[in-house]
Amino acid sequence: MRERKIQLCIVTPAKPVVDWPVEAVGALGSEGAFTALPGHITFLTDIQPGLLWYKTEGQNKDLAVSGGFIEILPDKAIVLADSAEYLDDIDVERAERAMKRASERLAAAKAEAADAEHDVRTDISRATASMNRAATRIKLATRRIGR
Ligand code: ATP
Repeated sequence: MRERKIQLCIVTPAKPVVDWPVEAVGALGSEGAFTALPGHITFLTDIQPGLLWYKTEGQNKDLAVSGGFIEILPDKAIVLADSAEYLDDIDVERAERAMKRASERLAAAKAEAADAEHDVRTDISRATASMNRAATRIKLATRRIGR
């Protein structure tokens, strides 16, 4: 019997991250954690910031994703994520620097918003998204190395 797999495709604005067959894929959606195996019914859901895992050759691979969407088809899974990195590849110091920069930008944008001189909503949402990416990276990478 032919071995059945799911073609997993993970794409981020920065780069394609994964495009190969896997045995299973799982993540956290707004309705809870899910696992998709080959032959799964078609569905589309959001992905919450946190862990996305897949299984290949019997081994689990863990990535930090900072939100996005996944479409599951019986033989394919397509993930469009804001960011995705293997936990082993995360540079925690870099994420801490990004977090500091973003929180400073957020504080500055909020202070400007108080003056109401110009619309700073874009600055606020960019800084918030950057903080969320950094927070997810720090949380998952430090949990992995037991810090
Ligand atoms: P930074 O300000 O440090 O670049 P960022 O959140 O703006 O952080 P992104 O735009 O999400 O970065 O990502 C740019 C590229 O750098 C992507 O390929 C992403 O996977 C990678 N990347 C970002 N931060 C880290 C990190 N802390 N460790 C490893 N790779 C990272």
